[in-house]
Amino acid sequence: MATMKALVCRECGKEYPTKAIHVCEMCFGPLEVKYNYEEIKRNISRKKIQDGPDSIWRYADLLPVQGPTYLGPHAGMTPLVRAKNLGAFLGLDELYIKNDTVNHPTLSFKDRVVAVAITRARELGFETIACASTGNLANSVAAHAAAAGMRAYVFIPGDLEAAKVLGNLIYKPNVVEVEGNYDDVNRLCSEIAGEHGWAFVNINIRPYYAEGSKTLAYETVEQLGWRTPDQVVIPMASGSLLTKIWKGLHEMKTVGLIDDVKTKINGAQAEGCSPISTAFKSGRDFFKPVKPKTIAKSLAIGNPADGYYALKATAESKGSMDMVSDDEVVEGIKLLAQTEGIFAETAGGVTIGVLQKLVKQGTIKKSDVTVAYITGNGLKTQEAVIDAVGRPHRIQPSLVSFEQTFKVGKHGGGDA
Ligand SMILES: *Cc1c(COP(=O)(O)O)cnc(C)c1O
Repeated sequence: MATMKALVCRECGKEYPTKAIHVCEMCFGPLEVKYNYEEIKRNISRKKIQDGPDSIWRYADLLPVQGPTYLGPHAGMTPLVRAKNLGAFLGLDELYIKNDTVNHPTLSFKDRVVAVAITRARELGFETIACASTGNLANSVAAHAAAAGMRAYVFIPGDLEAAKVLGNLIYKPNVVEVEGNYDDVNRLCSEIAGEHGWAFVNINIRPYYAEGSKTLAYETVEQLGWRTPDQVVIPMASGSLLTKIWKGLHEMKTVGLIDDVKTKINGAQAEGCSPISTAFKSGRDFFKPVKPKTIAKSLAIGNPADGYYALKATAESKGSMDMVSDDEVVEGIKLLAQTEGIFAETAGGVTIGVLQKLVKQGTIKKSDVTVAYITGNGLKTQEAVIDAVGRPHRIQPSLVSFEQTFKVGKHGGGDA
């Protein structure tokens, strides 16, 4: 595609070549990808996108890769579910769930960012791929590396859910469990990245990696029939996903795919790790780092790299932020499962819990077209709900035993 112009510092604007670098050497600001939007505008159209592959790569014109070989060929184009039952329960006329619990191959939105990162890493000549992860990122890096035949190192905190640990080991990367939380893991990885010539997807490859999140905005708009939603609710860890959805919506306008962006961006965190939402609610444009303590481990970043930019994007959009307790996270997971048949991980419980709060406050209104981003699969965080779902009815293998348990009339319904 080669629509990338340069990397550019988000603070001072200094430009760099599109290599594996992520901080400005002048002011230490983060680098991001700069595109040639004029050229993209001439090349892109709704029809071209619709005729493209059934994956994130239908938006390759807006992604920071040269192509035409794409690793992670199946990420993206997950269902946008019209959530009639949950909408009715909450009092919303038009609610959608963007369902990344079924993203390919590792059941979280991270497959989008990793597909982009590993494709770019390969283009830049790397043979080893690595990451500092809160769980889902490691799973995705491990799976993509296996499929690409690349060596992998994934670094995880010491207290991850069993399925997320196993979801690394099965692909046989080097799994490094660090005795500490994500912020410790990330600090260590920044040091290691300086020592070894590896592609750390969320460190030296971060400018490319982060762009993969924009595809959640593109798909939402396309799946809504080229409309932008009025309200979106987005879970936040580093805050990158939120900022990139905001960027993606505006790019669609810049390249002429839509006329206007009227979306309010709402950020969601868990109370036990809510540096960004806390700053927003106290009217500050900077956050104070915290020590995370929540069951929403995929969002447990106490010192969020994009927290400042997430606050900025939310304010620009006239959106909001909020946080929920761990009990509300569990209730949110159950509510989504029991109304829409979608089993989300803890991050999904955070999103649904905050959605519910924003509707109650009147921040999100009945007639607002609303999209909630459900970014990970509940089978990976079973520990969070195991004590909140009851037990099966255990019976003998006999009709009598069944009838004794379920007092169902001959033609009637009724639960035990
Ligand atoms: C990583 C992650 C997020 C948010 O990531 P950001 O760091 O804010 O981009 C949200 N949900 C899930 C399930 C995740 O794994």
